[in-house]
Amino acid sequence: MRRSFRGSCHCGALGFSFQTALAVSQWSVRACQCGFCRAHGARTTSDRTGRLAFCVGEAEALQRYRFGLKTADFLVCRRCGVYIGAQIATPHGAFGIVNTLAMLPLIEELPPATPVDYGSESVSERTERRELRWTPLDEVV
Ligand SMILES: [Zn+2]
Repeated sequence: MRRSFRGSCHCGALGFSFQTALAVSQWSVRACQCGFCRAHGARTTSDRTGRLAFCVGEAEALQRYRFGLKTADFLVCRRCGVYIGAQIATPHGAFGIVNTLAMLPLIEELPPATPVDYGSESVSERTERRELRWTPLDEVV
């Protein structure tokens, strides 16, 4: 049975609902070493068997940021600056990750983050990895 975890940016304009049947202790928590994620101190997670929905309460607050291979949108609040997660649309569907540090209430028992570096991937490798590991997304925002 899935549990639902909610999160939002600081000002509340953007949020998400992440559903997973995994116990928190089983979550794959990643500390991506790219410059964007390091600067945000992001700790992301996903569950290929879960579900994810981003909610945009105020459309003007949504900043989609693309960099590097430009394969995904990183979702940042234009007003408060919080990075809540990322999304990608592929021929196999839409998928996303969430920044666990934006969850409310904060998850106390998060597993330690694994540093990851995807800098050497090609576009197809990156897309395939996300299709295999990211959470199916109800719809891109
Ligand atoms: Zn905000």
